[in-house]
Amino acid sequence: MYRNYLQEPFFETISKVASASNLEVYVIGGFVRDAFLGRKSKDVDIVVLGSGIDLAHAVAAELPGHPSVNFYSNFGTANLRSEGWEIEFVGARKESYQRDSRKPLVENGTLEDDQNRRDFTINALALCLNPERFGELIDPFGGREDLHTKTIRTPLDPDITFSDDPLRMMRAIRFATQLDFAIQESTRDSISRNSERIEIVSMERVIDELNKIILSPVPSRGFLLLHQTGLLQRIFPEFCLLEGVEKKNGLSHKDNFYHTLQVLDNVARESDDLWLRWAAILHDIAKPQTKRFEEGHGWTFHGHEDKGSRMVKPLFRRMRLPLNEKMKYVEKLVLLHLRPIVLSKEEVTDSAIRRLIVEAGDEVNDLLLLCKADITSKNEVKVKRYLRNLELVKIKIADVTERDRLNNWQPPISGNDIMDAFVISDPKDIGRVKLAVREAILDGNIPNEHGAAREFMLKKGGELGLKRKSH
Ligand code: ATP
Ligand code: MG
Repeated sequence: MYRNYLQEPFFETISKVASASNLEVYVIGGFVRDAFLGRKSKDVDIVVLGSGIDLAHAVAAELPGHPSVNFYSNFGTANLRSEGWEIEFVGARKESYQRDSRKPLVENGTLEDDQNRRDFTINALALCLNPERFGELIDPFGGREDLHTKTIRTPLDPDITFSDDPLRMMRAIRFATQLDFAIQESTRDSISRNSERIEIVSMERVIDELNKIILSPVPSRGFLLLHQTGLLQRIFPEFCLLEGVEKKNGLSHKDNFYHTLQVLDNVARESDDLWLRWAAILHDIAKPQTKRFEEGHGWTFHGHEDKGSRMVKPLFRRMRLPLNEKMKYVEKLVLLHLRPIVLSKEEVTDSAIRRLIVEAGDEVNDLLLLCKADITSKNEVKVKRYLRNLELVKIKIADVTERDRLNNWQPPISGNDIMDAFVISDPKDIGRVKLAVREAILDGNIPNEHGAAREFMLKKGGELGLKRKSH
């Protein structure tokens, strides 16, 4: 009995309401899995042997504040929000699939039917909510054991599970990456066999899962699984082109596929931002197209940052990613990703630093983070030197920013204030007084306030021999 996972009062309410109508009711799926894993989740899936929509309405009437129910008659599902929880109700169902669609034919079924249609053993766990069996675990496929051994496995023959709904292949890899689980060998082999079926899934759904992989703690694990199973080639062929090393006259370049994954992991350690992670994924995307071998020099990728930046929009469009300021942000970071390190190599002028600050704008810190993540050489001496240089650039950026801030800063006394107060015969006196006020504030001799600055101005003008205007 796992009553301790069911302490939220709404479980009690669902239990009472369903039992009053003599209906069996269970909490199933992600919530149960996450409860066993000690992960917090706010989504709850309820399965009832009866109408999910009717149950949702009856439960809503008993919950505090009587939340409204959204329901979808043609799917037989309903959901409501209560005190930060999102509760979904559905009648137990049996599903059968046709070859060309991931939309099943649905009929009423038993709990067992409903568990059979679930994607993985760990997502098929159910806890009974009826009073006499409250907290009883129904685990027909050994999902509890798979949680212990950290295994992703389909409840039924994986070839059927994946062919029925190919999105489940993405989900398998997504859960493996999010939870740091391994995909059971036969399940993984089945993904490889069925990878071409991903074509019947909409890009939106695929990207939704890909983004969850990208947002995982070590996203490279998911990319490697996608790659090994052949899914990556189908959903993101541009990325696969980064793979490989060419050698000429004894000179080779680094494998940009694995390099990019390392940059992605490096960024992931520092930031949860999806778009910064996308910038890491795409920073070298144009390297295959710009690769040249220059005699006496070796491999070069001239202009890959510029070409890469121009590849962002068509890629985002194809992948149904947003074509908005997030995309612009990624374009900008890809375009500028070499700049801080280039700057660090030369004797840098203030104006070069200033140009970078202006071009990077608010993104300058993200750019520095990406740039640091991009330093992945195996040569430790090189890495140390680059990191040190990058630190210098950071200091210079901070320094120039601070000086510019001071240069642009205006004291709380204007030229007009000075002309109003004094009879001015030499216009240079205005500048002199203003500068004195400015310095006094910057030196901390007077506070940065109009009153204090005006008093100081009158004193300073007197010292310079200026005559007060009589009002
Ligand atoms: P998360 O909410 O973290 O994405 P989850 O397991 O709750 O994880 P949902 O997409 O919310 O995933 O789905 C809830 C449950 O519905 C799953 O646990 C699983 O049992 C079932 N499910 C969802 N999508 C599928 C699918 N494509 N095929 C089979 N079962 C699915
Ligand atoms: Mg969920």
